[in-house]
Amino acid sequence: MKFFDLELDQPDTRKALDAAYRRVMASGRLILGPELEAFEGEFAAFCGSAHCAGVGNGLDALSLALRAAGISAGDEVIVPAHTFAATWLAVTAVGGQLKPVEVDPTTYTLDPDAVRAAIGPRTRAVIPVSLYGHPADLDPIMALAREHGLFVLEDAAQSHGAGYRGRRAGATAHATAFSFYPTKNLGALGDAGAVVTADPALDRRIRQLRNYGSERKYVHEIEGVNSRLDELQAAFLRVRLARLERNNGRRRDLADHYAEQLGDLSGLTLPCEAAWAEHVYHLFVVRTPERDRLQDELRRAGVETLIHYPVPCHLQAAFADLGMKAGDFPITETLAQEVLSLPLWPGMGRDGVNRVAGAARAALGRG
Ligand SMILES: *Cc1c(COP(=O)(O)O)cnc(C)c1O
Repeated sequence: MKFFDLELDQPDTRKALDAAYRRVMASGRLILGPELEAFEGEFAAFCGSAHCAGVGNGLDALSLALRAAGISAGDEVIVPAHTFAATWLAVTAVGGQLKPVEVDPTTYTLDPDAVRAAIGPRTRAVIPVSLYGHPADLDPIMALAREHGLFVLEDAAQSHGAGYRGRRAGATAHATAFSFYPTKNLGALGDAGAVVTADPALDRRIRQLRNYGSERKYVHEIEGVNSRLDELQAAFLRVRLARLERNNGRRRDLADHYAEQLGDLSGLTLPCEAAWAEHVYHLFVVRTPERDRLQDELRRAGVETLIHYPVPCHLQAAFADLGMKAGDFPITETLAQEVLSLPLWPGMGRDGVNRVAGAARAALGRG
């Protein structure tokens, strides 16, 4: 069983992607044109927010949002210890000081109490990450932000369409960064990203930053970069966005099926869905102290799995200058040793889940 399938050969999707390509070819507009404008409007509406600015990738979405909010050298930014490295890299990219805190051991997202305890005089921003498809608990973090004047940037690179207390990802934080890397729930056919916000000034700033700090050609108000979402990717994303809700529904159905098949295994912790959350299962992540053995036996049974993530950010060479060491974030370090992502993609079907679950039961001695 493959870990993931982009399903580009699905006849209906293939036809629509081909038509999108021909439309852009016929228009002759390749950068900052009508496809991007249309996608930005459609995605903002999908998220339940007012504005969306397309950028080159998810990391740029995060770092440009921080810059647009005025986060700069010396400003402290609270991040979860357990996340993909890009969350941390966005902070160092703008010269910010990383302030990592532990995650909640059941939802694997920022623990609001840990955030409260970490706020200091130089803290300017918080980046809650909605990891694996499960939203971070944003309301208590927004309340802390009001109290302390912080900017809240949700990293929803893995959570397009996830529900938080009846709102979708993109509708709660001051700004929300998305990645459209091909394997994400909403994926382009290359690199792409976006920032969604209800704040028109922030949106305008991001539009300047992504295009050399310029709104009008050859007039540069601020020092920007080149990070645009091109017309071809925008056209492809419109095709994928039209199928996102259906595909998230399939992911949820398959996750339920996994839970039915694996729920009785005592040594195995399944993904949790908080009462206030609607999980979109970007990844189906299980936990067991026997992780390495389970992964080996699944590999032998022909089932591909991955580990998200095997080495926590605070133990990566790239962040050695922070002087952090093993033992600093016990929950995160235990997760790095125990998590395993099982195959999950919208078209894998219940039969696919049955195969993986059968192999997992056999590996854990409960065949
Ligand atoms: C994928 C991802 C990113 C980065 O997105 P890119 O488009 O690959 O730059 C950031 N944060 C998280 C949590 C991600 O999963």
